[in-house]
Amino acid sequence: MENLQQIYKQAAQMTYKGQVATYIPALAVNDPNAFAVSMMSAEDSIELGECATMFTLQSVVKVISFMVATNHHGIEEIMHYVDVEPTGDSFNSIVRLESNNNKPFNPMINAGAITIASLLPGRTMYDKVKSVTLFLEQILGKQVHINNEVYFSEYHSADYNRAISYILQANGFLKSDVEEALQVYLQLCSISVNVSDLAKIAFYFATNGKNSEAHCSIEVINIAKALMLTCGMYNFSGKFAAFVGLPAKSGVSGAIIAIVKQGEIEHLQGPIGIGLYGPAIDKVGNSVAGIEFLTQLSKQYELFCL
Ligand code: GLN
Repeated sequence: MENLQQIYKQAAQMTYKGQVATYIPALAVNDPNAFAVSMMSAEDSIELGECATMFTLQSVVKVISFMVATNHHGIEEIMHYVDVEPTGDSFNSIVRLESNNNKPFNPMINAGAITIASLLPGRTMYDKVKSVTLFLEQILGKQVHINNEVYFSEYHSADYNRAISYILQANGFLKSDVEEALQVYLQLCSISVNVSDLAKIAFYFATNGKNSEAHCSIEVINIAKALMLTCGMYNFSGKFAAFVGLPAKSGVSGAIIAIVKQGEIEHLQGPIGIGLYGPAIDKVGNSVAGIEFLTQLSKQYELFCL
């Protein structure tokens, strides 16, 4: 345990190298020095730092929305709308919407995630959001809520995402109108969780959803994990795969989930789900302390999965 405490302490000291996201005004008030980690196996869990703090999922939700939409429509149909290729561009980039037949490259960048939001099951905006919150509630075994302050804050400063939505619509890659896709997407980004919830989500992937009430086909779970490995950490995904070697997904709130299919971290054994929260993020959008922690953890506990 001493070793783990040491990794945590060293990572927590790195927060000064990052900054909280300010382009969503409501995120700017978060404590830049916060850093918490929760890890769970089938039998036990380890918590480091202040694990009760609530924050929003932001881009971490993209992987959940992808699964719900793909479970509903099937992989072939979804692939007509969104590809599964990494970009190496920033998450809100617009440049590639004029290549690859205008199809968004993957569901982990904003363009692909907004298309996915328009494809969610349900007639109304409310139903579409509900389809994802319900799935999440089945994973977590508890109710989840949307942080409306964060949602409205982002909705009123969503110029980039609105621009992306209009381009998607013009090219035939939205199944709903612009406003609905945008609002569904932003509400999903604003779902409130803590690090223990993140660890549970990661554990769901680590066990391929076995014994969970949240049903998803193994093919879809496999694609979700491949997407996390290749595109989950924005335009740092290649380096993260090379030097950490775990499927993971981050959000600009400073949230990260990381999946250990088989490993041993102190008294935790077998499939392990890791949740991290460190709102000081780097230029790419990843939690600075989170990346540092996972890099050291993977190295010292030999978690590299490839
Ligand atoms: N809601 C954020 C946005 O669309 C999510 C992005 C992120 O977490 N990288 O900009």
